Amino acid sequence: MAKELTKEDVWTVEDSEKLYRVALWGESYFYVNEEGHLAVRPILGDSIGIDVYKVVQDLRQQRIQFPLLIRFQDLLRSRVTELNTAFRKAIEESGYGNSYIGVYPIKVNQLHEVVQEILEAGRPFGFGLESGSKAELVAALPHLEDDRTLLICNGYKDWTMMRLLLIGQLLGKNVIPILEKFSELRLLLTQAAELGVRPKFGARVRVSVTGSGKWAASGGDSSKFGITISELVRLIDEVSLNGVADGFKLLHFHMGSQILDIQNLKQAVKEIARIYATLRKRGLEIEYLNVGGGLGVNYEAGEVTSPHGINYTLPEYVNAIVYTVKEVCDAENVPHPVLVSESGRALTAHHSVLIVEVIAANARENVDEPLPPGAIEHPQVAELAKLFNSLADKSVRRKSLPVLLETFHDAAEKRQDIGLLFELGYLSLEQKAAAERLYWSICTTINRMMQKRNPELLPKDLVAMKEQLTDQYLCDFSVFQSILDYWAIGQVFPIMPIHRLKEQPSRLATLVDLTCDSDGKVDRFVSPLGSKNALEVHRLVEGEPYYLGFFLMGAYQDILGDIHNLFGRVTEVHVYADAEEPDNYFIEKVIKGTTVQEILAVVQYFPNDLQRRMEQLIQQKVKDGLIRPKIGVQLLDQYSKAFHEYTYLGPDDGI
Ligand SMILES: *Cc1c(COP(=O)(O)O)cnc(C)c1O
Repeated sequence: MAKELTKEDVWTVEDSEKLYRVALWGESYFYVNEEGHLAVRPILGDSIGIDVYKVVQDLRQQRIQFPLLIRFQDLLRSRVTELNTAFRKAIEESGYGNSYIGVYPIKVNQLHEVVQEILEAGRPFGFGLESGSKAELVAALPHLEDDRTLLICNGYKDWTMMRLLLIGQLLGKNVIPILEKFSELRLLLTQAAELGVRPKFGARVRVSVTGSGKWAASGGDSSKFGITISELVRLIDEVSLNGVADGFKLLHFHMGSQILDIQNLKQAVKEIARIYATLRKRGLEIEYLNVGGGLGVNYEAGEVTSPHGINYTLPEYVNAIVYTVKEVCDAENVPHPVLVSESGRALTAHHSVLIVEVIAANARENVDEPLPPGAIEHPQVAELAKLFNSLADKSVRRKSLPVLLETFHDAAEKRQDIGLLFELGYLSLEQKAAAERLYWSICTTINRMMQKRNPELLPKDLVAMKEQLTDQYLCDFSVFQSILDYWAIGQVFPIMPIHRLKEQPSRLATLVDLTCDSDGKVDRFVSPLGSKNALEVHRLVEGEPYYLGFFLMGAYQDILGDIHNLFGRVTEVHVYADAEEPDNYFIEKVIKGTTVQEILAVVQYFPNDLQRRMEQLIQQKVKDGLIRPKIGVQLLDQYSKAFHEYTYLGPDDGI
């Protein structure tokens, strides 16, 4: 009995890990260390750990401003290895008769260092790239160092793009344009003739299965992408007629990002494999079968069996592809194609973490300090104080839910009575204030006592109470710059404090950002029930920074982010693991975030002009005798300094 009592009373790092579902969204990479800090093991199969909070303290000491994005470059490499080795394993175990080549769709995160890191980690596996626009193609093409490295180009293509793709082929590179619509064939054929290249190409086919979830429209009959089956038939006739049928190298489909249900994928793979087999039998020597992207990331931190988020793991995804293609090809008696996939999200999401400082809290008042003498003289207020003390009583600490519920009901009733008495003039303002603080303290305490319990089994009155307890934590970041998908499509991201994790979080909060936009807030968080509308956080301590980590930031968010309210790109820090270094890491690079001057230039304001205008305003006031000339110079100086500042909040001392 006594032992159980302590277990209930003491908050451990395991409790934090469980509460924030770290093992589910963080896979094998993220954990809470013994010091109660969030930590990362970025290297697959290596136990070397980096304390994220220590990195943050280090950066703070170097006076690097927050918010900032930490990239764990090793983790990016680990994901590339994980995907490739999973395919190798499945190919070996199933006896699949060909290989796998992945390509990284750079639209997911085009940052040069991300692309380079992926290419480098992928070199042993022959990993390539995918581009979907002119600018992406221009960026990707010169990175094909090895002639065998695959570059796939999706997206609608114009004259220039087709020309560049064929130039790639002319240089002996393994570049494959994917025909997204039938008319692109003309463009390809005329330019190939001009350049004297025997063109290689592929086609994106609309499979009839649609994915599920937010990106379902990328596949299916009414998708804006790909050619229909009847167009495919025409395409085959046309290429045979033009004598370039031997250049038809690849069949492609893409169901859309973040496939939720593995069954949908299997169906689509089955369909494309059938099409492949049919074309093979007609004598077309298609080499590659490209199953697109869509490998999901567990943002919702759901169990594989839960109804929220993706219902499979990376190995299951890989097996579904390898075994399904093998089965169809064996049944149709055609050779196994080289398997290609275009995973982007699953490779990049985990490697970056956004670190945000909480600036202030709009909190429910609690009785941290003793109540003013005389406040609880009134018997009704004294009753509330008694209820509050009963919760603190150690010997009866382990309250059963019915007892907690009863305490809450009693407190709510007392509060109502007190409200009435106040209206009738029987209570002073101080007494009413004390009662309010007592009431909220009782609720907070009850909430804390329920924290380890299964949220699905809580009485509805206590769930409603919990919702009333929510504070607002003001955070130094912009939802629109850093987590656009949260706002745009309701994607939840795992968010949690990165320190104080040995301490039980005593508050519930929604997060609000710096923008002057009521949508600039986060009020849905990962939970076993799908989502919850407040996050468990710690009480802010005066003078001590409090940091939240936003996780799985590496896919799409960086590039989708916009400059609402002129908050610019955040500072980026690239961190590598190194066992020789004191805390197992070194900071390889800091890329400073956008300055005020840079963001203003985007909307056509320039320092010279602004400074001249400001100077005129000041000179006028000097002339009017409102300010002295020396002060005028200082004011202009202050104004000019702001051009070089970060767009987010600076330190309180202004340095
Ligand atoms: C966006 C896209 C991908 C990447 O999808 P993920 O879900 O990020 O893996 C792959 N292929 C094509 C054609 C795409 O448009």
